[in-house]
Amino acid sequence: MAIKDRFAEVIKRKDEATLRSGRKPEDVTLIAVTKMHAPSEINEAIDAGATDIGENRVQEMLEKYDSVHDVRWHLIGHLQTNKVKNVIGKVVMIHSVDSLKLAREIDKRSETAGLITDILIEINSAMEDTKSGINSADLKELCEDICAECANVRIRGLMCIPPMAADPEDARPYFKEAASLFEEMKTWDLPKERFIPDVLSMGMSGDFEVAIEEGATIVRVGSSIFGPRNYR
Ligand SMILES: *Cc1c(COP(=O)(O)O)cnc(C)c1O
Repeated sequence: MAIKDRFAEVIKRKDEATLRSGRKPEDVTLIAVTKMHAPSEINEAIDAGATDIGENRVQEMLEKYDSVHDVRWHLIGHLQTNKVKNVIGKVVMIHSVDSLKLAREIDKRSETAGLITDILIEINSAMEDTKSGINSADLKELCEDICAECANVRIRGLMCIPPMAADPEDARPYFKEAASLFEEMKTWDLPKERFIPDVLSMGMSGDFEVAIEEGATIVRVGSSIFGPRNYR
C-alpha cells in the first residue's frame, strides 16, 4: 500500500477512536514518526496531509531537515544535553525531558535564540531501568524546579512509552496512569506562563487507539504509516 493510503487509514482510525472517546477529531494530533525513513517518503506523507512529524535522533533529523517540506518537527527520542543547541528553533516540541539539567540547557539555548520552547516531561510509568523518563513520584518537584528556574521553557504536559506488548490492551493500565497524572497536573498551582498542561503524548502503531480512548491528545505513529523500519 502507498504511504498516502496508509496515512489516510491511520487518520481514519485516529478520528474514529477520538469520536469514541467523546472528543472531536481535531482534538487529537497525529505525529508521523519518520525515523529511518527517507525525505522522499516523509514528503509523501506531508503531501497526504501530515502536519507534524517526529524524529528520535538529532543527527538524523538534521540530515533530513532541509530536504523535507514545510512541517512541524517534534523531537520524541532521548535528548543529550550537548545536542540541545542543534534543535532549538527547529522543533516545535521536545517530548522527552526527564531531568532538570536537560531543561536548564533547553532554557539557556532558547534564551540565546530569543525563543520559548515547549516541552513534555517523559514519565517512566513502567519503572524499567533500561528506559528513560522519570518516576511519577518525582514529577511535581521537577515541574516546580523547571518553572522556578527556566523562564524560556514552557511545560505542556506528559509523554509516556509503555513496555512493548503483543496485545494493545496490555498498555491500557499505563495509559490510564499517565492520564490520571496528567489530570492531576492540571490542578497544580504553577505559573501560567510556564506551565500549560494541555498535551498528553502517548500511543504508537500497536496501541494508539487504546491511548486515545484513555485521553491521549497526541499519538506518535511510525510503522503503520511508513511500513517496517530497516535497522542497519
Ligand atoms: C519509533 C517511535 C514511535 C513510533 O513507533 P511505531 O511503533 O513505528 O509506530 C513512537 N514514539 C517513539 C518515542 C518512538 O521512538
